[in-house]
Formats: sequence, C-alpha cells, structure tokens
Amino acid sequence: MTATTPITQDVLTLPRKLPDGPTNLVGLTREAMRTALIEAGTPERQAKMRTGQVWQWIYQKGVRDFDAMTNLAKPYRALLAENFAIDLPEVVSRHVSTDGTRKYLVRIAGGHEVETVYIPEESRGTLCISSQVGCTLTCSFCHTGTQRLVRNLTAGEIVGQIMLARDDLGEWPEPGRNPKDEQRLLSNVVLMGMGEPLYNFESVRDGMKIAMDPEGISLSRRRITLSTSGVVPEIARTAEEIGCLLAVSFHATTDEVRDKLVPINKRWNIAALLEALRSYPKASNSERITFEYVMLKDVNDSDADAHRLIELIRGIPAKINLIPFNEWPGAPYERSSNNRIRAFADIIYKAGYASPIRTPRGEDIMAACGQLKSESQKERRVRKPVGAAPAPD
Ligand code: SAH
Ligand code: SF4
Repeated sequence: MTATTPITQDVLTLPRKLPDGPTNLVGLTREAMRTALIEAGTPERQAKMRTGQVWQWIYQKGVRDFDAMTNLAKPYRALLAENFAIDLPEVVSRHVSTDGTRKYLVRIAGGHEVETVYIPEESRGTLCISSQVGCTLTCSFCHTGTQRLVRNLTAGEIVGQIMLARDDLGEWPEPGRNPKDEQRLLSNVVLMGMGEPLYNFESVRDGMKIAMDPEGISLSRRRITLSTSGVVPEIARTAEEIGCLLAVSFHATTDEVRDKLVPINKRWNIAALLEALRSYPKASNSERITFEYVMLKDVNDSDADAHRLIELIRGIPAKINLIPFNEWPGAPYERSSNNRIRAFADIIYKAGYASPIRTPRGEDIMAACGQLKSESQKERRVRKPVGAAPAPD
C-alpha cells in the first residue's frame, strides 16, 4: 500500500498510519476503510461488500485476527493481514472498586496513558472515555486541568476504549443475537474522561460514528453524552455531525466566578454559552441538555446561586446534574457539605427540575470525575481516601 489514509485531525493527532507499520483498521470510517481496502488491492466493485464484512468482524464480533474472518477467502485474508492491523490501545492496569466500578489505565501509541472508567448501575452500564491526553484548558477544580496537553486521541483510540471494555466485560454478542440496550453491560458512553472533546472534534466524531453504526457496536446516539466546558463555536456542529446528547460544565452563575472555575468563560462567557445552547438543534424535552454543576464549598453553592441558575437556564430543555466535588491532593477547593448540596438540590427541584446528585463512584480506586490519571502518576504513594459519599437521593 503506497498512499496514506487522509488525515483530518490537527497536528497534535498521530497519523493513523505509522511510518513503517500496517494501517490500523480500527478507527477508520466506513469510507476510509473502503478506500484503504481498494488501495491494498481489493477490486473496486467488491470494496463496499468487503468493508461491510470486515466491519462486522471487527465491531460486531470483536475479532482481532484476520484468519478468523471465515467468510473471506484465504488469499484475501492473507492480503488483509499483510496490509492491515486491528489494534486497540493496551490495558496497562485494571482496578475494580468495591462498588463494581472498573478503572482501566490505557496506554496509547507513543507510550502515553489515559483512563477509561466503567460504571455499572441497575438499569445501565456507562463507560466514561477520554478524548485527549491531558487538557489545554485549566479549570481550577479539575485534576486533568493541572496536566498539560500531550496529544489528541485518534478515532481508533477513542472507539478502542469501548472495545477494550467490551473485551473485559466479555460482551461481544453471539452472531445473530443483539441484546436490547437495557440488557447490555455497556449500554451508555459519556465523553467525560480526560480532555475537552470539542477540541478534538473530528476524531471524537469519527469514533462515535463508528460506535453508533448499526452493523457494529450499535450504540444509540441517545446513549452517548458529550460533555464540554463550553467551546461555543463547536456546539451546533455536535448536534449536526454527531447527534449525541450534550452536557455542559456550567459550574457557576456569574461570569466572575465562572472565569475562575472554567477559564474558557473568558473567551465565551455565560451569555454566549447560553445562546449556543438555546439554539442547540437537538435539544427537546426528550433530549435535554445536562447542566453539570460541581458543588464547591462557599464558592458556588449558595441559595442565591441556585436561584440564579434557574433564571439563567429558563426556556432551555435542561437537566441539572449536581456533582459533589471530588477532592484530589492539593486541590484548592472543598466539597460542599451534604446539607448544603441537599438544600441547593431542593431549590432546583421546586423550580421543576429533576436535580440528581451524582453519587461518586469508584472513589476507592480514584475513578471519580476529575481524578483520572492522578493515581497513575502517584501510583505507589499512599494516600488517604477522600471524603464520605453524599446523599444518595
Ligand atoms: N472537558 C470536558 C469533559 C471532561 S470533565 C468538560 O469539562 O466538560 C467531565 C466532568 O467532570 C465535567 O463536568 C467536569 O467539570 C467535572 N469535573 C472535573 N473535575 C472534577 C472534580 N474534581 N470533581 C467533580 N467534578 C469534576
Ligand atoms: Fe479540561 Fe474538562 Fe478538566 Fe476543564 S473540566 S480542565 S475542560 S477536562
């Protein structure tokens, strides 16, 4: 194979084709896979069918070996093996929490590491995936924000996190059996791990398109939630080109406080963000925007904040998700008390919004929001467990 696959990401993303290695099929869009198969010698008139077949082996059956693709002739399997690889990021370690949460430390090309967290619940299983190594943004309460950006993940590394979790959960369905969403162990994906997904738009989009493809992993677009700190110009595109649900790291009700907590607010302030959300093409009562709100003691947790929050989001189909601050060593904030969180939630509830308080999961393995990677960097140091879990309701 001579020509390289087109690269649509910015310079921080590794090209899909490493200089001397075979092309990794994982992460190629259908169109890119078709082109790659033709370049490798597949007759053009067969390319669509071959793409469908290879696609199903990789994404529906979880196969990693071309020789196992038994509906392909042996010489064609050999041609594939010569030109291509089916590579996933490597799981370096796996921690299982007492509450069933699983945290994977995942090594990607270049030796960098990101984290992926699986959170089992009664009626669903959610995988929290990363989109970047580190983050260019510097939200003051977020541990990832203290790490510099190393690079964007490729589409293959993004969808690869779903695939490696499926490997670990043993969830590659038998051929012909497609369990209903609610019966799946891995039924939901949230882009709430490390990084700002809208600063790696193309790879996130391609990775999620692959995850949604009905002939493969086949996750419903309504079971994927992308969380952004507020990259306003990319918000409408998220609805148009990905079509998933949206969550926004809101976290403050005045620009003064939000400037400190989520510094991207200096670029696009609360008014600009709300305007983009008001016109989010997909927002409706059945597909509400989630407003994430981290509860920081004496910073953003007053009754006045709760009232202002309600006023600000009036008219937007919204859910409010209160996140008790997950402390990390050296963090400049404290978690609001359980009583304060409940009082805040109550005001929101009375205004007609469901106000779930996100129960911290996997705290014993440092798997909670904003803590990712911290433990791996300090792996062998002893640390005290973080504070008690807040109210469960
Ligand atoms: N960069 C994206 C997505 C990753 S963060 C974003 O900022 O939205 C996922 C969520 O966890 C965000 O709402 C983020 O603000 C929140 N978060 C980060 N650090 C946290 C911490 N220490 N405690 C609680 N929530 C945190
Ligand atoms: Fe980056 Fe999100 Fe953390 Fe802010 S909260 S530093 S955008 S990962």
